Amino acid sequence: MQESPARERVGVDKPMALRRMDPGDMNEALKRIAKKAAYFSGVLPIQHALEHRDTLTAVMFHRVLDRDDPRWNDANPRDTVSTEFFADCLRFFHRHYDVVALEDVIRSTKGGARLPSRGLLITFDDGWSDNLRYAAPVLRAQGLPAVVFVTVDAVASRDAEWWQERVYAAYRTGAMTPERHAALDAAATAAVRPGAWVQRPDEPSVLSLIARLGTLDAARRAPLIADLPPREQGTRMMLTPAELAALRQAGVELGVHGFSHAPLTMLADPGDDLALAREGLRSMAGGISSLDALAYPHGRYDAGVQAAAERVGFTAIFTSDEHINRLKPGGVANARSIGRIVIDQQLLSDERGRLRSEEMATWLFRRPLQ
Ligand SMILES: [Zn+2]
Repeated sequence: MQESPARERVGVDKPMALRRMDPGDMNEALKRIAKKAAYFSGVLPIQHALEHRDTLTAVMFHRVLDRDDPRWNDANPRDTVSTEFFADCLRFFHRHYDVVALEDVIRSTKGGARLPSRGLLITFDDGWSDNLRYAAPVLRAQGLPAVVFVTVDAVASRDAEWWQERVYAAYRTGAMTPERHAALDAAATAAVRPGAWVQRPDEPSVLSLIARLGTLDAARRAPLIADLPPREQGTRMMLTPAELAALRQAGVELGVHGFSHAPLTMLADPGDDLALAREGLRSMAGGISSLDALAYPHGRYDAGVQAAAERVGFTAIFTSDEHINRLKPGGVANARSIGRIVIDQQLLSDERGRLRSEEMATWLFRRPLQ
C-alpha cells in the first residue's frame, strides 16, 4: 500500500508571519503554501498517478556524502546531496513510483518484460567513490536498484583528485582571479578543434572552460591548472577499478559516461571516445557482459554523436534533457534519447537539509512528456 503523503505533513506556514516579510519573500512563502496544499491535499499525487501512466522518469545524481565527512564542505554543492537527503529521496520515489533497474529498461527495449506503469530509474554520473561508500548502503537498505555511469579515464587515472573539481572549486573559493580566468580561457580556446566549441548563452563560464579543458589529454591540461589549489587531499575522489566490482556486488549496475568526459560534440570522432570507454569499462569491471547504456558527458549531443553512439552499440542512451519519457507497449518509446531530471539538494531541501516533498513533487511531476 502506498503511504499517504499527509503522514509526513510538517507545520503549515502561518499567514500572520507574512506581514513582516518583504514582497519577494512573501511571494516565495505564498508559492510554498500553494505547493504544500497541492501536494499534501493529494491533488498533485493523484494528477501524477493519472497523467503519468506508461511513463519512465529517470533521475540524475552525482555525489552522496555524509555531512560529517570532511569532504562535504569541499564538494561542489550543485552536484552533492547528503546521505540523509538521499534516503529521503528514495522514500519519495518508493511512494510515488515503481523503481526499476537499468536491466529492466534495456530488456524492455529488446521486447522483454514490460516496464511498470510509472517507472523511475535512479542514475549517478561520473563514478564518484562516495557512490560506493554512502549511496550503495542506503540503496540496499531500501532495496532499490541504481546505475552509475562511469567516466572511464577518471576511474582509470591514478590521481587522487579529478582535475575538474580543482577548476570548479577555484571559482567557488575565489582562487580563480579574473587574470587567471582570462589566461586559462585563452589557452583552452586555443587548444580546442576550430569550430568544435560553441558557447551557450546560458552556460556559466566555469562549465564552458571545463568542457574545453576536457578535450585535452592529461599531459597538456595538467600544466594549465597546476597553480590552482588542489582539493580533498588525502582521499581519492573517484572509484577505483576494484571498487567498480564492489559496486556491482552491492547491486549497482554500470553504464558508460564517455572516456574523457569531454562533450562528445567537441570531439573530431566521438565514436572513438565511446568505443574506448566501452572497452575500458568492460575490462576494468571484470568482463561485464552487457554494456549497452550511455549517458552523455555534460548532456551534450547532436545527430552525429547520436549516430556514433548507436554504431558503437549503445541501445539505451540517456541525455540530461529534463523531461518524462513516454512508454510504448513494452518499453521506452525513444530509448535512443531518454531524458533525465537532475536532483539538486539546494533547490529541494528545507533549512535542515531534509527533502521538501512538495518541492520534489512539483520538480518531477510537472515536466513535459516526450
Ligand atoms: Zn559527468
